[in-house]
Amino acid sequence: MSTVIYPSPIFGPVHSRRLGISLGINLMPADGKVCTFDCIYCECGFNADHRPKLRRPTREEVAEKLEAKLKEMKTEGQLPDVLTFAGNGEPTAHPHFAGIIDDTIELRDKYCPKAKVSVLSNTTMADRPEVHAALLKVDNNILKLDTVDPDYINKVDRPVSKTYDVKKIIETMKSFNGHVIVQTMFMRGKTGSEDVDNTGEKYVGPWLEALKDIKPQQVMIYTIDRETPDHDLLKASHETLDAIRDRVIEAGISCTASY
Ligand code: SF4
Repeated sequence: MSTVIYPSPIFGPVHSRRLGISLGINLMPADGKVCTFDCIYCECGFNADHRPKLRRPTREEVAEKLEAKLKEMKTEGQLPDVLTFAGNGEPTAHPHFAGIIDDTIELRDKYCPKAKVSVLSNTTMADRPEVHAALLKVDNNILKLDTVDPDYINKVDRPVSKTYDVKKIIETMKSFNGHVIVQTMFMRGKTGSEDVDNTGEKYVGPWLEALKDIKPQQVMIYTIDRETPDHDLLKASHETLDAIRDRVIEAGISCTASY
């Protein structure tokens, strides 16, 4: 199995056609994965297979390493277009996430004021006041909502907490008053003997209704790109993703599809 465990706290930069030069910030330990979800498609693998022994980087270490990397990139004349919080798990689960966002914005303003700060989160901690306030400060608050069907969520995203409630998650997304980008994974295939295709009307229709309620600034839909820990998952086709994207746009919400 070739899943990816990212270095910590800084990785990349990664060059992407969509984002430009993206410098990654990973708030998880460098030797494993810690997440409040355990998605069957996670490129970092299953939680149980990658339990870390190291600790998370401290707020000070993140600021120090980020500043050193930005100085290096400035010297090389190749500053990042985006600073992206992602990596081996859920970034908002770091106990000093809010302070780290403040430091990052300060460093961004000092070294690369045109760069955007993006956070990729699964939304499980976004109702915590300090996390919520921090997410309001970043340029791209990208929150995951793969479906609104609780059975599908338990089968595919597999929240670690038994109290996960998708209705509450939708309310949290609404509470950003449009300062939110919803990110949704569409795929086909199976996990064990169970179907995980969420591209049909049973899933897309109610998800679209939730989007109309959330009123995000944008929706990003995507599909499997790298090897997944569950090997029977399949990509959604271009045509399927384009059709879903067009329905979101018809509903008056900006939407992009990545294949
Ligand atoms: S939310 Fe992201 S990091 Fe966490 S298990 Fe899912 S894909 Fe992996």
